[in-house]
Amino acid sequence: MTVAIVWFRKDLRLADQPALAKALDTSQQLVPLYIDDWAEDNPWAMGSASRWWLHQSLKALDDALLALGSRLIIRRGQPLEVLEEIIRETGATRVFWNRLYTPYEMARDRLIKATLSAKEVEVLSFNSALLYEPWEIARPQGGPYKVFTPFWKAVIAKGLHGFTEPAPDHLPKVLSSIATEPLSSLKLLPKIGWDQGFYPRWPVGEQAAMRRLTTFIKGAVSGYQAGRNVPSVEGTSRLSPHLHFGEISPRQIIEMLSQGPLSLHQGPLCFQREVGWREFGIHLLYHFPETSDQPLDQRFNGFPWREDDQGLQLKAWQRGQTGFPIVDAGMRELWHTGWMHNRVRMIVASLLCKNLLIDWRQGAHWFWDTLVDADLASNSLGWQWTAGCGADAAPYFRIFNPILQGEKFDPEGRYVRTWCPELKGLPDRFIHKPWEAPSEILEGAGVLLGTHYPRPVVDLKGSREAALKAFSTIKNLL
Ligand SMILES: Cc1cc2nc3c(=O)[nH]c(=O)nc-3n(C[C@H](O)[C@H](O)[C@H](O)COP(=O)(O)OP(=O)(O)OC[C@H]3O[C@@H](n4cnc5c(N)ncnc54)[C@H](O)[C@@H]3O)c2cc1C
Repeated sequence: MTVAIVWFRKDLRLADQPALAKALDTSQQLVPLYIDDWAEDNPWAMGSASRWWLHQSLKALDDALLALGSRLIIRRGQPLEVLEEIIRETGATRVFWNRLYTPYEMARDRLIKATLSAKEVEVLSFNSALLYEPWEIARPQGGPYKVFTPFWKAVIAKGLHGFTEPAPDHLPKVLSSIATEPLSSLKLLPKIGWDQGFYPRWPVGEQAAMRRLTTFIKGAVSGYQAGRNVPSVEGTSRLSPHLHFGEISPRQIIEMLSQGPLSLHQGPLCFQREVGWREFGIHLLYHFPETSDQPLDQRFNGFPWREDDQGLQLKAWQRGQTGFPIVDAGMRELWHTGWMHNRVRMIVASLLCKNLLIDWRQGAHWFWDTLVDADLASNSLGWQWTAGCGADAAPYFRIFNPILQGEKFDPEGRYVRTWCPELKGLPDRFIHKPWEAPSEILEGAGVLLGTHYPRPVVDLKGSREAALKAFSTIKNLL
């Protein structure tokens, strides 16, 4: 009887699951395993919002396995030790997993593979997270891409292939002698009730991911090109946490898009391209593993980030109390739901690292802890792009003006009124700049600036000039 361990990590699904499919093909007994990795040497251990998601996702995976006659084995500890323990307990001769691409995970997996292989355990790994793996896409002259458009053209030239392998219809029973720890023992849920807003917003798991994709393809995808910029409407897919945890794969997305009646229209093509940005982020992190902590553009190493006096401005930003309504709305949406609209992510990030001149890494760390889709590759890409120090980055002189951005993308202030209800009564023309409203209008709207809603933490014009000056020190290094 051959026994195989299928080590689930960020591939918490049963369809288009190459590690599981291969294990089923080659072995009679399967041990579906999740390990809560205790490593203290992982500088990017999972943040709080992601842990909330993981709890729901493991539960959904266990339910799905139970429905097929199997179950999820959960263990805690150092992954190599846990795998060796299960190999001893079950006599497993094979371990299968799907590949991950962060520096910590790659180093860990390499060591595990070498150690187990030396003990005659067969270890096989697969691609489940990407259309193409980072080493499969290279510039014609060799080396990785640093600019998105040629990267995406190279992916398209190689072919966008979907994948249809369904989930198995049954799985072998896991021996009752194999013990599992209860999910609750992983203590993934926060102690304070901060996550209450997550539950209504996020059905989690493979089925929920597929439902979300189907609804999006039937609805918003056709208007995605314009709709994706409007934070008050559900114009984007909100698949990011599902993709991060591997509840759905980009191949499945491509497959479903290609079946839709609109497959060659602007909306779906634009959406595909955004999925391409995720691939690009992983491509970059794989080839430039230091970029989660260091600027890709090394001229930024000496950038004069400002020391934030007692962290007060950072705190105001984190709490959605900057006095710029679109920024505060975004930061509060993040806190209450674990997610923020992409347009607003760019605006809040620009305020932090350009107007406030606070190091982008501080923002990246806050996002890491509070986003349910926190992803080392996409987060580093997004922050470095905004700060101007990353691949294909926004030019240093592009400093988002939160008033103009608000007026353009939230003209009636719907998004702001949802997340900053204290400003609800302001007329549209002042909703993005309450400090410019005459006192009788503020009074009529029941807003006392500095009491109900803060005054701006920074002067936009002066801080823009200061930022340009700081950036000119970089320019001089050219
Ligand atoms: C400062 C900053 C930090 C970010 N941090 C993260 C992060 O930690 N995790 C994360 O998944 N995304 C991050 N993004 C990218 C983007 O904001 C989110 O992927 C997107 O908002 C998710 O919403 P959606 O699923 O509705 O996207 P859709 O518009 O529906 O796009 C579909 C999918 O494409 C991918 N995608 C879309 N835009 C981007 C992008 N700019 N970069 C990389 N992938 C993209 C995502 O996987 C997304 O789910 C960040 C962006 C910025 C500016």
